[in-house]
Amino acid sequence: MIKSSAVPIQNKLIDRFGRQVTYVRISVTDRCDFRCVYCMSEDMEFLPREQVLTFEEIATLSRAFVEMGVTKIRITGGEPLVRKDVVGMLAEISQLDGLDELVITTNGSQLVKLAEPLKKAGVKRINISLDSLDADKFKKVTRVGDLDVVLKGIQAAKKAGFEKIKLNAVILKNRNHDEVNSLVQYAMEEGLDISFIEEMPLGVVDSHSREEAYYSSDEIKRDIEQQFDLLPSTKTTGGPARYYSVQGYDNMVGFISPHSHNFCDTCNRVRVTASGLLLLCLGQEHSMDLKRVLRANPTDLNKVKQALIESMEIKPKGHDFDITEQPVIFRHMSVTGG
Ligand code: SAM
Ligand code: SF4
Repeated sequence: MIKSSAVPIQNKLIDRFGRQVTYVRISVTDRCDFRCVYCMSEDMEFLPREQVLTFEEIATLSRAFVEMGVTKIRITGGEPLVRKDVVGMLAEISQLDGLDELVITTNGSQLVKLAEPLKKAGVKRINISLDSLDADKFKKVTRVGDLDVVLKGIQAAKKAGFEKIKLNAVILKNRNHDEVNSLVQYAMEEGLDISFIEEMPLGVVDSHSREEAYYSSDEIKRDIEQQFDLLPSTKTTGGPARYYSVQGYDNMVGFISPHSHNFCDTCNRVRVTASGLLLLCLGQEHSMDLKRVLRANPTDLNKVKQALIESMEIKPKGHDFDITEQPVIFRHMSVTGG
């Protein structure tokens, strides 16, 4: 039974710069069945299981966040769908009063089996990573992924009837930059949104130089405009994405540009790693060990809330990614929770 305190507690997460945190991304595992070249090394060492937050700890943490004004939770990883108890966890989190959106990010490899259970568990929207429509290139980027399985997963997600499905593509020069228009065409024909992501310098990768592989959102947009008419949209998620509607279609194209467009002034989010570290900024090391708080006070939600309030004091003003300095941040995206 989780205790509530008689002491009134501040009920919003507002940092020193007046930004309110309303969006949390929780990584439920650092493990993955892919090894995407921009995200992981070929040989990865994963966390021992006892260091990963349990189902109950993630549920408690989610409740603390939602009671403090968080309205959107994204479950991510690693690959969230390789965690065995993930559907039950999502079903529990989706019941939280005050949570408007429960969404997940997945590589799509398990969706044939899990799309329907995820929808039933209360997941409203789903982001699926898809960097290439060419089976060989897809294999090269993911090292082990099977394009056909992911495409079938996308069909299963469509059939399950999520409110929205968005594709995410990380674009690397000379690996998949020539595919942006086929990816847009595919997304539009399937009735899906698509976002293009600039590679971020998170963790050491052994397959390529991030500086050489950098392909900016402006270049991607220029390529797309050779074939499609993009109209700027006012849609915003408070993050680094800018959205455009595509003339003749109902779906949007987004550009996530941590390098070329600063987004920190309106930052509304924090992240929790699989090991329970609260990261106040994707591109900085400022953090708080929530696992320690949760394990020291397993039944006291207010201790967790107090820690969240204290963390607002150390949320930095912004990131300073620099693609020419490697690595800027030693954590991989799979640890951070993308
Ligand atoms: N495994 C799931 C997936 O791939 O969708 C969820 C976790 S993954 C870390 C979340 C997103 O981060 C994916 O869209 C992935 O392409 C992106 N990502 C991973 N490493 C990145 C990097 N270094 N720069 C930019 N995006 C990255
Ligand atoms: Fe796995 Fe996602 Fe990272 Fe690819 S991007 S290695 S699918 S966690």
